[in-house]
Amino acid sequence: MHDIAPPPDGVRLWPPGEPPTTFSFGGGWQSTAALVLASRGELPIDTFVFANVGDDSENPATLAYLREHAVPFARRNGLRLIELHRTRRDGSVETLYGRLMREGSRSIPIPVRMSNGAPGTRSCTADFKIRVIGRGLKLQGAGPENPATVAIGITVDEIHRANSRRGDPHERLVYPLLDLGLRRSDCPRIITSAGLPVPPRSACWFCPFRSVPAWQDTRRNDPELFERACRLEATLNQRRRLLGRDPVWLTRFNAPLRQVVPTDDPLPLEEGDGSCDGGWCFT
Ligand code: SF4
Repeated sequence: MHDIAPPPDGVRLWPPGEPPTTFSFGGGWQSTAALVLASRGELPIDTFVFANVGDDSENPATLAYLREHAVPFARRNGLRLIELHRTRRDGSVETLYGRLMREGSRSIPIPVRMSNGAPGTRSCTADFKIRVIGRGLKLQGAGPENPATVAIGITVDEIHRANSRRGDPHERLVYPLLDLGLRRSDCPRIITSAGLPVPPRSACWFCPFRSVPAWQDTRRNDPELFERACRLEATLNQRRRLLGRDPVWLTRFNAPLRQVVPTDDPLPLEEGDGSCDGGWCFT
Protein backbone atom coordinates (compact mmCIF):
# COMPACT_ATOMS: atom_id res chain seq x y z
CA MET A 1 0.00 0.00 0.00
CA HIS A 2 1.64 3.20 -1.06
CA ASP A 3 -1.15 5.73 -1.16
CA ILE A 4 0.21 7.45 1.94
CA ALA A 5 3.85 7.75 1.08
CA PRO A 6 6.55 9.15 3.35
CA PRO A 7 7.99 12.47 2.21
CA PRO A 8 10.74 12.09 -0.42
CA ASP A 9 14.31 12.26 0.92
CA GLY A 10 15.26 15.77 1.88
CA VAL A 11 11.68 17.07 2.06
CA ARG A 12 11.05 18.50 5.51
CA LEU A 13 7.51 18.43 6.90
CA TRP A 14 8.37 20.77 9.74
CA PRO A 15 10.24 24.07 9.32
CA PRO A 16 13.94 23.85 10.32
CA GLY A 17 14.33 24.20 14.07
CA GLU A 18 10.72 23.23 14.78
CA PRO A 19 10.62 19.88 16.58
CA PRO A 20 8.52 17.29 14.72
CA THR A 21 5.24 16.46 16.45
CA THR A 22 3.37 13.36 15.46
CA PHE A 23 0.92 10.69 16.61
CA SER A 24 1.86 7.01 16.43
CA PHE A 25 -1.12 5.72 14.45
CA GLY A 26 -1.87 2.07 15.19
CA GLY A 27 -4.96 1.85 12.98
CA GLY A 28 -7.34 0.95 15.82
CA TRP A 29 -9.95 2.69 17.96
CA GLN A 30 -7.70 5.08 19.89
CA SER A 31 -5.71 6.27 16.85
CA THR A 32 -8.82 6.79 14.76
CA ALA A 33 -10.52 8.70 17.58
CA ALA A 34 -7.38 10.86 17.82
CA LEU A 35 -7.57 11.54 14.07
CA VAL A 36 -11.17 12.74 14.51
CA LEU A 37 -10.23 14.94 17.49
CA ALA A 38 -7.37 16.44 15.47
CA SER A 39 -9.75 17.19 12.58
CA ARG A 40 -11.82 19.29 15.01
CA GLY A 41 -8.81 21.07 16.47
CA GLU A 42 -9.28 19.28 19.80
CA LEU A 43 -5.84 17.68 19.49
CA PRO A 44 -3.01 19.95 18.34
CA ILE A 45 -1.45 17.41 15.96
CA ASP A 46 -1.63 17.41 12.17
CA THR A 47 0.72 14.53 11.35
CA PHE A 48 -0.01 10.87 12.06
CA VAL A 49 2.52 8.14 11.34
CA PHE A 50 1.53 4.53 10.75
CA ALA A 51 4.44 2.07 11.03
CA ASN A 52 3.13 -0.74 8.83
CA VAL A 53 4.83 -3.95 10.01
CA GLY A 54 3.95 -5.48 6.64
CA ASP A 55 1.03 -5.81 4.26
CA ASP A 56 1.37 -9.56 4.93
CA SER A 57 1.46 -9.05 8.71
CA GLU A 58 -1.05 -6.36 9.75
CA ASN A 59 -4.68 -7.34 10.23
CA PRO A 60 -5.96 -7.21 6.59
CA ALA A 61 -9.14 -5.50 7.83
CA THR A 62 -7.04 -2.73 9.40
CA LEU A 63 -5.24 -2.10 6.11
CA ALA A 64 -8.57 -2.04 4.26
CA TYR A 65 -10.00 0.46 6.79
CA LEU A 66 -6.93 2.62 6.44
CA ARG A 67 -7.26 2.78 2.66
CA GLU A 68 -11.00 3.18 2.53
CA HIS A 69 -11.65 5.43 5.51
CA ALA A 70 -8.73 6.80 7.52
CA VAL A 71 -6.59 8.10 4.65
CA PRO A 72 -9.46 9.81 2.78
CA PHE A 73 -10.69 11.29 6.08
CA ALA A 74 -7.22 12.65 6.88
CA ARG A 75 -6.95 14.15 3.38
CA ARG A 76 -10.38 15.76 3.59
CA ASN A 77 -9.42 17.37 6.88
CA GLY A 78 -5.96 18.62 5.92
CA LEU A 79 -4.15 16.10 8.14
CA ARG A 80 -1.09 14.08 7.14
CA LEU A 81 -1.28 10.30 7.60
CA ILE A 82 2.08 8.89 6.62
CA GLU A 83 2.91 5.21 6.27
CA LEU A 84 6.41 3.97 7.02
CA HIS A 85 7.94 0.51 6.57
CA ARG A 86 11.05 -1.12 7.87
CA THR A 87 13.61 -1.13 5.09
CA ARG A 88 16.86 -3.06 4.66
CA ARG A 89 20.17 -1.45 3.67
CA ASP A 90 19.41 -2.10 -0.02
CA GLY A 91 16.11 -0.21 0.32
CA SER A 92 13.86 -3.27 0.10
CA VAL A 93 10.98 -3.58 2.58
CA GLU A 94 11.29 -6.15 5.35
CA THR A 95 8.02 -7.39 6.86
CA LEU A 96 7.51 -9.05 10.24
CA TYR A 97 5.88 -12.13 8.69
CA GLY A 98 8.78 -12.34 6.24
CA ARG A 99 11.23 -12.32 9.13
CA LEU A 100 9.22 -14.96 11.01
CA MET A 101 9.15 -17.27 8.01
CA ARG A 102 12.77 -16.72 6.96
CA GLU A 103 14.40 -20.07 6.23
CA GLY A 104 16.86 -21.10 8.94
CA SER A 105 15.76 -18.38 11.37
CA ARG A 106 16.51 -19.45 14.97
CA SER A 107 14.97 -16.62 16.95
CA ILE A 108 11.29 -15.65 17.10
CA PRO A 109 10.67 -11.88 17.08
CA ILE A 110 7.05 -12.00 18.33
CA PRO A 111 5.93 -12.59 21.96
CA VAL A 112 5.06 -16.29 21.57
CA ARG A 113 3.67 -17.93 24.71
CA MET A 114 5.71 -20.41 26.70
CA SER A 115 4.22 -23.53 28.36
CA ASN A 116 3.27 -21.44 31.44
CA GLY A 117 1.39 -18.96 29.22
CA ALA A 118 3.89 -16.13 29.72
CA PRO A 119 4.97 -14.23 26.61
CA GLY A 120 8.60 -14.61 25.50
CA THR A 121 10.82 -11.62 24.80
CA ARG A 122 9.97 -9.83 21.61
CA SER A 123 11.79 -7.55 19.23
CA CYS A 124 8.90 -6.92 16.81
CA THR A 125 7.56 -3.70 18.34
CA ALA A 126 11.02 -2.18 18.72
CA ASP A 127 12.24 -3.22 15.25
CA PHE A 128 9.11 -2.70 13.20
CA LYS A 129 7.40 0.21 14.96
CA ILE A 130 9.53 2.18 17.44
CA ARG A 131 12.74 2.26 15.38
CA VAL A 132 10.89 2.80 12.11
CA ILE A 133 9.10 5.86 13.46
CA GLY A 134 12.28 7.01 15.24
CA ARG A 135 14.27 6.82 12.00
CA GLY A 136 11.59 8.77 10.13
CA LEU A 137 11.65 11.47 12.80
CA LYS A 138 15.44 11.69 12.75
CA LEU A 139 15.26 12.19 8.97
CA GLN A 140 12.90 15.05 9.79
CA GLY A 141 15.49 16.71 12.00
CA ALA A 142 14.71 15.21 15.42
CA GLY A 143 17.73 14.83 17.70
CA PRO A 144 18.68 15.19 21.35
CA GLU A 145 18.77 19.00 20.91
CA ASN A 146 15.53 19.07 18.97
CA PRO A 147 13.51 16.09 20.25
CA ALA A 148 10.35 15.08 18.45
CA THR A 149 7.09 14.78 20.34
CA VAL A 150 5.43 11.42 19.74
CA ALA A 151 1.85 11.01 20.95
CA ILE A 152 0.77 7.50 21.93
CA GLY A 153 -2.92 6.52 21.90
CA ILE A 154 -3.31 5.05 25.36
CA THR A 155 -6.64 5.67 27.15
CA VAL A 156 -7.24 5.96 30.92
CA ASP A 157 -8.50 2.38 31.26
CA GLU A 158 -5.11 1.21 29.94
CA ILE A 159 -2.96 3.62 31.93
CA HIS A 160 -0.68 0.76 33.00
CA ARG A 161 0.56 0.65 29.40
CA ALA A 162 1.90 4.21 29.57
CA ASN A 163 5.45 5.15 30.54
CA SER A 164 6.70 1.58 30.43
CA ARG A 165 9.52 2.68 28.16
CA ARG A 166 11.56 5.84 28.41
CA GLY A 167 11.75 7.63 25.13
CA ASP A 168 15.01 7.79 23.20
CA PRO A 169 16.88 11.12 23.43
CA HIS A 170 15.52 12.18 20.04
CA GLU A 171 11.91 11.87 21.16
CA ARG A 172 9.52 12.72 23.98
CA LEU A 173 6.48 10.52 24.48
CA VAL A 174 3.14 12.13 25.38
CA TYR A 175 -0.28 10.62 26.07
CA PRO A 176 -2.91 13.15 24.96
CA LEU A 177 -5.89 10.80 25.33
CA LEU A 178 -5.00 10.36 29.00
CA ASP A 179 -4.90 14.15 29.39
CA LEU A 180 -8.38 14.30 27.84
CA GLY A 181 -9.57 11.62 30.30
CA LEU A 182 -10.78 9.38 27.46
CA ARG A 183 -11.58 5.72 27.88
CA ARG A 184 -11.31 3.14 25.11
CA SER A 185 -15.10 2.81 25.23
CA ASP A 186 -15.43 6.54 24.36
CA CYS A 187 -13.66 6.02 21.03
CA PRO A 188 -16.51 4.50 18.95
CA ARG A 189 -18.77 7.46 19.81
CA ILE A 190 -16.07 9.95 18.74
CA ILE A 191 -15.34 8.02 15.54
CA THR A 192 -18.97 7.60 14.47
CA SER A 193 -19.73 11.23 15.28
CA ALA A 194 -17.46 12.10 12.35
CA GLY A 195 -19.40 9.77 10.03
CA LEU A 196 -16.70 7.10 10.08
CA PRO A 197 -17.35 3.42 10.77
CA VAL A 198 -15.65 1.92 13.84
CA PRO A 199 -12.34 0.33 12.76
CA PRO A 200 -11.56 -3.34 13.34
CA ARG A 201 -9.06 -4.51 15.98
CA SER A 202 -5.58 -3.46 14.98
CA ALA A 203 -2.55 -5.72 15.52
CA CYS A 204 -0.73 -8.37 13.53
CA TRP A 205 -3.07 -11.24 12.63
CA PHE A 206 -0.65 -13.67 14.33
CA CYS A 207 0.00 -11.63 17.49
CA PRO A 208 0.20 -13.83 20.62
CA PHE A 209 -1.29 -10.93 22.63
CA ARG A 210 -4.63 -11.32 20.83
CA SER A 211 -7.52 -12.44 23.02
CA VAL A 212 -9.43 -15.66 22.45
CA PRO A 213 -12.56 -13.75 21.31
CA ALA A 214 -10.38 -12.03 18.69
CA TRP A 215 -9.03 -15.40 17.50
CA GLN A 216 -12.56 -16.74 17.52
CA ASP A 217 -13.65 -13.85 15.32
CA THR A 218 -10.90 -14.70 12.86
CA ARG A 219 -11.80 -18.39 12.89
CA ARG A 220 -15.43 -17.59 12.18
CA ASN A 221 -15.06 -14.72 9.71
CA ASP A 222 -11.75 -15.39 7.99
CA PRO A 223 -11.09 -19.16 8.21
CA GLU A 224 -8.30 -18.92 5.64
CA LEU A 225 -6.38 -16.43 7.81
CA PHE A 226 -7.01 -18.61 10.87
CA GLU A 227 -5.54 -21.61 9.03
CA ARG A 228 -2.53 -19.49 8.11
CA ALA A 229 -1.98 -18.70 11.79
CA CYS A 230 -2.24 -22.42 12.65
CA ARG A 231 0.34 -23.19 9.96
CA LEU A 232 2.65 -20.44 11.26
CA GLU A 233 2.46 -21.88 14.79
CA ALA A 234 3.22 -25.36 13.42
CA THR A 235 6.18 -24.07 11.38
CA LEU A 236 7.69 -22.33 14.40
CA ASN A 237 7.37 -25.52 16.43
CA GLN A 238 8.78 -27.73 13.70
CA ARG A 239 11.88 -25.51 13.71
CA ARG A 240 12.10 -25.57 17.49
CA ARG A 241 11.83 -29.38 17.55
CA LEU A 242 14.85 -29.60 15.26
CA LEU A 243 16.75 -27.33 17.65
CA GLY A 244 15.67 -29.45 20.65
CA ARG A 245 13.53 -26.64 22.11
CA ASP A 246 10.13 -26.69 23.83
CA PRO A 247 7.06 -25.78 21.79
CA VAL A 248 5.63 -22.26 21.86
CA TRP A 249 2.11 -21.10 21.15
CA LEU A 250 0.08 -18.17 19.79
CA THR A 251 -2.26 -18.28 22.83
CA ARG A 252 -1.53 -18.73 26.55
CA PHE A 253 -3.15 -22.16 26.82
CA ASN A 254 -0.14 -24.38 26.12
CA ALA A 255 -1.78 -26.09 23.15
CA PRO A 256 -2.23 -25.57 19.39
CA LEU A 257 -4.41 -22.70 18.26
CA ARG A 258 -6.86 -24.99 16.51
CA GLN A 259 -7.55 -26.80 19.80
CA VAL A 260 -7.93 -23.79 22.07
CA VAL A 261 -10.03 -21.47 19.92
CA PRO A 262 -13.63 -22.57 20.23
CA THR A 263 -15.95 -22.54 17.28
CA ASP A 264 -18.90 -21.56 19.49
CA ASP A 265 -18.87 -19.41 22.68
CA PRO A 266 -15.80 -17.56 23.96
CA LEU A 267 -13.85 -19.10 26.83
CA PRO A 268 -14.87 -17.67 30.21
CA LEU A 269 -12.54 -15.32 32.08
CA GLU A 270 -10.89 -14.09 28.92
CA GLU A 271 -9.79 -10.48 29.09
CA GLY A 272 -9.62 -8.21 26.05
CA ASP A 273 -6.71 -7.41 23.76
CA GLY A 274 -3.92 -5.17 24.74
CA SER A 275 -1.55 -6.99 27.05
CA CYS A 276 1.05 -5.38 24.78
CA ASP A 277 2.67 -2.62 26.81
CA GLY A 278 3.95 0.67 25.48
CA GLY A 279 0.95 1.51 23.29
CA TRP A 280 2.72 1.14 19.92
CA CYS A 281 0.43 -1.75 18.95
CA PHE A 282 -3.29 -2.31 19.69
CA THR A 283 -4.11 1.43 19.58
S1 SF4 B 1 0.90 -6.54 17.22
FE1 SF4 B 1 1.98 -8.15 18.37
S2 SF4 B 1 3.21 -9.27 16.85
FE2 SF4 B 1 2.60 -7.30 15.92
S3 SF4 B 1 4.29 -5.90 16.35
FE3 SF4 B 1 2.80 -5.65 18.03
S4 SF4 B 1 3.45 -7.09 19.64
FE4 SF4 B 1 4.51 -7.67 17.73
